[in-house]
Amino acid sequence: MRLAQMAAHLSNGKPSNGSSYEGSTLADLPKSWTFTSSLPADPKFPTPAASHKTPRQDIEPRQVKGALYTWVRPEEAQEPELLGISLAGMRDLGIKEGEEKTEDFKQLVAGNKLMGWDAEKEEGGYPWAQCYGGWQFGSWAGQLGDGRAISLFETTNPTTKTRYELQLKGAGITPYSRFADGKAVLRSSIREFVVSEALNALRIPTTRALSLTLLPRSKVRRETIEPGAIVARFAQSWLRIGTFDILRARGERDMIRQLTTYIAENVFDGWESLPERNPSEDGKDARPLKTGVGKDEIQGPAGLEENRVTRLYREIVRRNAKTVAAWQAYAFTNGVLNTDNTSIFGLSIDFGPFAFLDNFDPNYTPNHDDHMLRYSYRNQPTIIWWNLVRLGESLGELIGVGANIDKEEFVEKGIRQEDADDLVSRAEALITRAGEEYKAVFLEEYKRLMTARLGLKTHKESDFENLFSELLDTMEELELDFNQFFRKLSNLKIGDLETEEQRKSAAGVFFHHEGVTGINNNEESARKRIGNWLEKWSTRVYEDWGPNGEDEARQVEMKKVNPKFIPKSWILDELIKRVEKGGEREILDRIMHMALNPFEESWGWDEKEEERFCGDVPKFDRAMQCSCSS
Ligand code: AMP
Ligand code: MG
Repeated sequence: MRLAQMAAHLSNGKPSNGSSYEGSTLADLPKSWTFTSSLPADPKFPTPAASHKTPRQDIEPRQVKGALYTWVRPEEAQEPELLGISLAGMRDLGIKEGEEKTEDFKQLVAGNKLMGWDAEKEEGGYPWAQCYGGWQFGSWAGQLGDGRAISLFETTNPTTKTRYELQLKGAGITPYSRFADGKAVLRSSIREFVVSEALNALRIPTTRALSLTLLPRSKVRRETIEPGAIVARFAQSWLRIGTFDILRARGERDMIRQLTTYIAENVFDGWESLPERNPSEDGKDARPLKTGVGKDEIQGPAGLEENRVTRLYREIVRRNAKTVAAWQAYAFTNGVLNTDNTSIFGLSIDFGPFAFLDNFDPNYTPNHDDHMLRYSYRNQPTIIWWNLVRLGESLGELIGVGANIDKEEFVEKGIRQEDADDLVSRAEALITRAGEEYKAVFLEEYKRLMTARLGLKTHKESDFENLFSELLDTMEELELDFNQFFRKLSNLKIGDLETEEQRKSAAGVFFHHEGVTGINNNEESARKRIGNWLEKWSTRVYEDWGPNGEDEARQVEMKKVNPKFIPKSWILDELIKRVEKGGEREILDRIMHMALNPFEESWGWDEKEEERFCGDVPKFDRAMQCSCSS
């Protein structure tokens, strides 16, 4: 009933792509296992049958070598309760509406049903857990991997042709569980379920969520005993920088090469789709360099020739630059940006102690344990680049070898000792150049998003200083709510900002309900400061929109990019309490519906409640932090 109601909301309102779709039944959904058929399996369970024959509890945590995954099925889930689905997730996977009411769906997303595996013949597609490693808080952490995530199959949406890998988080122990229990608690599962879908609705690249299942019989020990849950989630790829890290650490250079081919051909649209060398860079670093295979293979003065792996690296760099720009423009903080949580596809991935900023505070980190503020809002662009340099190191040999990448001697034996220095300096130069590109792509995307958020049609060089920086400084000093600022700005009429008095009066809408905040500010100084900024802003609006400022058209455009609803920490906290402790169910669908349609003005529910969830963050709930124990 709840799900049906939500479906009605969505079809009455607008699904995010505005179109209806046919969709397949679960049984008809096209399924594939490209990842597992292209890459090497854990030699301990060389086939799905070998894994299937093994008692589930005997598939224990251990160090795995020579493999990128292990065949492993989810643990049996007792009495699963489907708490919620994402209709946007259903649509994007191409699953027919109504399938969520079937027993098959409920059992699939709880891990109790294998699709594609013929148990009698012991053949077909089988679930798996990925192996990866990672740099955590700047130190090498060794083997990590899907310690509680198990992928079921890939499926390609017949309309969009996008292929996704469907995965269950919280489905039991795998060889990569280390000392932990393979479970996920309801609390963090609710958070991931809502926020990954919210990011997608904000057009921020992210892994997605299809459903949330409560495991009422599963008692999970964290700081206290908590109920367990499973999020069925999906992504174009679950590969991370950490996947390359582990291969590098194990010295498995053949597999690094194999993985680059898999990614180019199966995750991206083929080698030829990858970025060509940036023409503006041509010749800039030109210098003769040896390529590292033999003295006869000296590279000409064309300089730093880019081979296909360099282009692959650049694609990964560019994607991550864009995603981190979107995080900054919408004030989303991941909280644990280790290399195992940095996606090869440039997705927001791994939802632990993340948060959207409430008040704008660049030093904020949602991670209670991050005392050095390594993963604070301000540091995200730097840290993602730090992680990308680790990837550059894993790919360094393939990048540095340039045109000789497929020379037999290099493929088989690697680089000759006497050529190593040249190779390293070439790789370093190419990675440094990719770093310049990272900055440029980041800035371009950040500018694009902020320009749109401010309701401008063009970007002027001076906007950076006059509008962006000045706004951020003002927000920081006055402790204003970041995302609400833009939505409130979208409501202003330009004709109401003509005089200083008018601007100072309008400034009041940005204050918290308790009045002016921030040390050393009083009502007059705060109104003056915001008023000054509004003057600069309205000048730019007139420049872009003409002498009457086109309030109506501009407001429509601004509201398309400035969400009214953001699932902030206090909202997720209330949601968790009400679902977990209060046994409420409908609230989850309500919040999810808002998260999936964040730009709407209202959601046809309870106006007062909607406004409360879109309103000022309760004073003592601002800038909350979480621990990593999820
Ligand atoms: P995270 O902090 O979520 O990025 O996790 C880091 C590593 O620890 C990953 O390899 C996870 O799979 C693993 N991990 C975290 N929590 C658990 C758990 N409860 N059971 C098994 N593995 C876990
Ligand atoms: Mg992780």
